[in-house]
Amino acid sequence: MKDKFIRFMRSRYGNDQLSSFLTWGGLIFMVLDAFIKTGIFYFLGLFMFAYGYVRIMSKNYDKRAAQNRWFMEHTAGVRNIFKRAKKQKEAGKEYKIFVCSKCQQMIRVPRGKGKIEIRCPKCGNRFVKKS
Ligand SMILES: [Zn+2]
Repeated sequence: MKDKFIRFMRSRYGNDQLSSFLTWGGLIFMVLDAFIKTGIFYFLGLFMFAYGYVRIMSKNYDKRAAQNRWFMEHTAGVRNIFKRAKKQKEAGKEYKIFVCSKCQQMIRVPRGKGKIEIRCPKCGNRFVKKS
């Protein structure tokens, strides 16, 4: 049974960030609709969940990889908010975390230096921020 499953999954695309988002997001929508009872969220969630699994089971690697790349690029801003909050927590009160607007690189700057010019070490982009 286990061998059969492995053989079945071998030629499939498998999970990626977009599929995780679709299946988890879908589940959350369905649970949410159990409380707010619109019906719309339930079907939206069901569709997302089903589509997530269609992607996991897909054999079209190129298309799935391209979709995931698109998803990762277009959600970089949102994901950065969480990443930055986590980094800021690690950096504590002595440092402040800024995100380069050009390349999304996170830059750690000492706090309490007033307005300073920050140069991104990755792409060289300069911007002025209050530290
Ligand atoms: Zn940069």
